Amino acid sequence: MDEGATSVELDRAHVFHSWSAQGSLTPLAVAGGRGSEVWDHDGRRYLDLSSQLVNVNIGHCHPAVVAAIQEQAAVLPTVSPAHAALVRGRAAQAVLRHAPPGMAKVFFTNGGADANENAIRMARVHTGRDKVVSTYRSYHGNTGAAVVATGDWRRVPNEYARGHVHVFGPYPYRSEFWASTPQEEAERAVHHLERVIQAEGPESVAAILLETVPGTAGVLVPPPGYLAGVREVADRYGVLLVLDEVMAGFGRTGAWFALDHWGVRPDLVTFAKGVNSGYVPVGGVIVSEEVAATFEDRVFPGGLTYSGHPLAMASIVAAVEAMEQEGVVLNAARVGADVLGPGLARLAAEHPCVGEVRGLGVFWAVELVTDRATREPVGAGVMGRVRTGLLERGMLAFLVENRIHVVPPCVVTDAEVHRALEALDAVLTDIDATIDE
Ligand code: PLP
Repeated sequence: MDEGATSVELDRAHVFHSWSAQGSLTPLAVAGGRGSEVWDHDGRRYLDLSSQLVNVNIGHCHPAVVAAIQEQAAVLPTVSPAHAALVRGRAAQAVLRHAPPGMAKVFFTNGGADANENAIRMARVHTGRDKVVSTYRSYHGNTGAAVVATGDWRRVPNEYARGHVHVFGPYPYRSEFWASTPQEEAERAVHHLERVIQAEGPESVAAILLETVPGTAGVLVPPPGYLAGVREVADRYGVLLVLDEVMAGFGRTGAWFALDHWGVRPDLVTFAKGVNSGYVPVGGVIVSEEVAATFEDRVFPGGLTYSGHPLAMASIVAAVEAMEQEGVVLNAARVGADVLGPGLARLAAEHPCVGEVRGLGVFWAVELVTDRATREPVGAGVMGRVRTGLLERGMLAFLVENRIHVVPPCVVTDAEVHRALEALDAVLTDIDATIDE
């Protein structure tokens, strides 16, 4: 049996997958990757429009990051978080170099979920309050508090943590607020948030936790004024603002952090994914001077054996330095503004099955509808055809509900984007025909 078939057979026999009924899976066997491409065991190449789980920002197999991990493995592959390790301090410094003003320290975690878990813990201890307000259209990770802070379907079977309250955030295309302009949407979403905090009792609310740009929920770029309004509400009631930049951070939106686009000042920022493009599992919380001061004399009641793991730290230092030296974030901004954004807007104009295209940098969603007037989302059958059509054309996509998330690595080239747009054009032509039937 060839390696590809063995890979799938072993997977189906022994590997238990995330978020799935195990019996119905047909995974693609990925053998290797470089830059924005991956390939299977037969050498068939795919343009990775998914960046896997929207985390491979620097592209696959970046030689400097691979070398840094190898070098660190030969020197000190593991060390207790209690010790000082040069590579850990350097990794914290690299993250803070791009953090907003007023940020003091970094607490490293194993990934994004436990980054949110620990940010929530810090907010609760710092404020002496309990509740966390987050949005229904969100994903914050798969651990105790993070999955209950999550708004999407994944919260529902996991609702064991307490102290979580949900609100609707802005989504102009499918407004919950009968808004007719993005400004109105922003104002009404802020008003709704404030009313919920008042109704819950502001003295019980520790934090507002938001994805700066909700990602899996549909790349919901916040309308102008929303984040500034949220900051004002947080200040009015002494509530901390925690921004989840796990998916949106480290170049994805064409800025180091998505919050840079709106100049909003958070109290805590969570990150993972793009910080080292997932070469070694890692995440963290960036802590403001004020919150850090709380824990100068007071014990922080949290920790992890692998907090600041040396292999992860070496990969962060190398990934951030490579992104700085190679202009990776600038590339994401330029590609988004000049090639990918305009290209997707053209597809939206030409294809009746496209309801809306939205995004920035290399962070885009194409929302498919059966009817532009009613905005009725297409169903699973249509999305299955989208997946197959893209795969046949050598494209790996990140599909969620009725949306194609076009989220290639930040290093994607113009030529690769043109190839992706051609493939999308062909697939959308097929879907237009289905909708007309
Ligand atoms: N927060 C956001 C915004 C995410 O998109 C994700 C993962 O997709 C997480 C948190 C959880 O990160 P992890 O899977 O590394 O725990």
